[in-house]
Amino acid sequence: MKTLAIFGGTFDPVHKGHVQSAQELKQRLQFDELRLLPCHIPPHRESPGCSSKHRLAMVRLAIENTDLLVDDREVQRDATSYSVETLEALRQEYGENISISWVMGTDAFVDLASWHRWRELLNLAHIIVMARPGEPLPVEGEVADLLAQRNVDETGQVEVLSSTAAGRICLQTLTPYPISATAIRAALKNNQSAESYLHPAVLHYIQSHQLYTQC
Ligand code: ATP
Repeated sequence: MKTLAIFGGTFDPVHKGHVQSAQELKQRLQFDELRLLPCHIPPHRESPGCSSKHRLAMVRLAIENTDLLVDDREVQRDATSYSVETLEALRQEYGENISISWVMGTDAFVDLASWHRWRELLNLAHIIVMARPGEPLPVEGEVADLLAQRNVDETGQVEVLSSTAAGRICLQTLTPYPISATAIRAALKNNQSAESYLHPAVLHYIQSHQLYTQC
């Protein structure tokens, strides 16, 4: 079965933690495609520091010369971005005979029960949870219960992801990149260097459009 992974995020801005984790994950889980999917209007958080057009442009620059792809469907849809609706659109486009995985960090996973129609997500896709330094997994509650029921051992993940379309949760501990976009925005606002966390073309884009100086 073809395997497609979707890594959704605000990417405000996209940083090396996103790109390097995505590359490592693609290789480890042997996805045929891994797409970064910037959201247009995130439902869970404050409005991003810069427009979806800029965030999408930076993602395109950050993945140049990698084997990653970008999916611009949420930005083009021009409405609040609900992952469940994005997954429904992907299922309509590709049908049932493809494995789709939704990728997120532990910080996003612990809040899963607040997502719109969250119980339907696993009918549409697998969920891949990347461990993030300092962000523990849920130990009690509905999300912890779901994890206990649907978790796949690391040794069986490639097999399960390539033979089933949706429904399982895979935990992955990748090389840690303790970087966050919040810290990068704060550094840029304070005229501190964020050079080591950003792809050079992304840094150049931020400087030439004078992004994050006010927010
Ligand atoms: P912010 O600080 O603004 O919340 P962020 O750096 O967490 O931003 P997002 O765009 O919110 O970036 O993240 C998209 C996804 O990438 C989330 O699922 C998040 O958990 C994951 N992610 C972000 N940074 C890292 C990192 N350094 N390592 C692994 N995963 C990450």
